[in-house]
Amino acid sequence: MAILGIDIGGTRIKAGVVAGDGTLGAHAAVGTPATLEDFRDALCDLARHIIDGAEIEAAGFGCKGIINARSTRVDVLPGTLHYLEGHVLSELIAPVLGRRTPVFADNDARVALAGELAWGAARGHSDVVMLTLGTGVGGAILSGGRLVRGHSGVAGHLGHLTIDPDGPLCICGNRGCLETLFSSRAIESEAHAAVHRGVDSLLTRRYAGDLQALTCEAVFETAREGDTAARLIVYEAVRALGAAIAGLVHALDPEIVIVGGQIAQAGDALFEPLTSEVQWRTHGLLRRTVPLVPPQVADTSGVVGAAALTLAGAS
Ligand SMILES: [Zn+2]
Repeated sequence: MAILGIDIGGTRIKAGVVAGDGTLGAHAAVGTPATLEDFRDALCDLARHIIDGAEIEAAGFGCKGIINARSTRVDVLPGTLHYLEGHVLSELIAPVLGRRTPVFADNDARVALAGELAWGAARGHSDVVMLTLGTGVGGAILSGGRLVRGHSGVAGHLGHLTIDPDGPLCICGNRGCLETLFSSRAIESEAHAAVHRGVDSLLTRRYAGDLQALTCEAVFETAREGDTAARLIVYEAVRALGAAIAGLVHALDPEIVIVGGQIAQAGDALFEPLTSEVQWRTHGLLRRTVPLVPPQVADTSGVVGAAALTLAGAS
């Protein structure tokens, strides 16, 4: 069995042939074109190139924005890929696959959870919350064995849980969303502000002349060295994330919470304080510790997750 997995991103379109056990075979990527016509050609050329005559049983798309999973129509997609709005992904790929091959689609966050459900940390579970910690915070929910999509496909935007009603303005128009308090962008902007103010810290001594190098990763590293200001920035961000997860745990009672994304690579420096933060906030009602675990699907391109959408377990 071979499945075609495709990830549509703002800068790259990635595609791969995925085996029934989740192994990624032939794969490739191209730059995301600027117009619909060029997109259609690039997508079909890329798919033909990696399929290379193999028999494809089904195809799955992961895409940013709000995707109608039933029809594979792109409902809402701001930014560079705006031209895809209103278009049906299964039709765009039809010149390659014909119209009889089943095609599935969903947003990139749900696709990541579908991958974990088929071949990773969520296997065998029916209630799972997944958070992807990067420049923003992505999320997806599996409840009672189903990926939660909500009334209009918006469900799972966990980065936009309101944590502080009067907090910083968010990209979504709300204030104090989780990702304004915990995300690489939020952590970096706290650190940059500290350097601007000349706070007595390794952050200022090391990065005052080169703020570009003061990344989220650098803040975690400096915190690990014991620097007070860096530790405080990490502590406050982790506290916000822990509060958000506690709310999710109370609302959804998941068996596990998968915490992935670039910031999760900090490992114990993140997982240890986060676990105790979630534990003290939830133990009263839950009377158990909800395991916070990293993802297990090695492919981070989104291609394997997109392929997983085609499996019954991810519907
Ligand atoms: Zn928001």
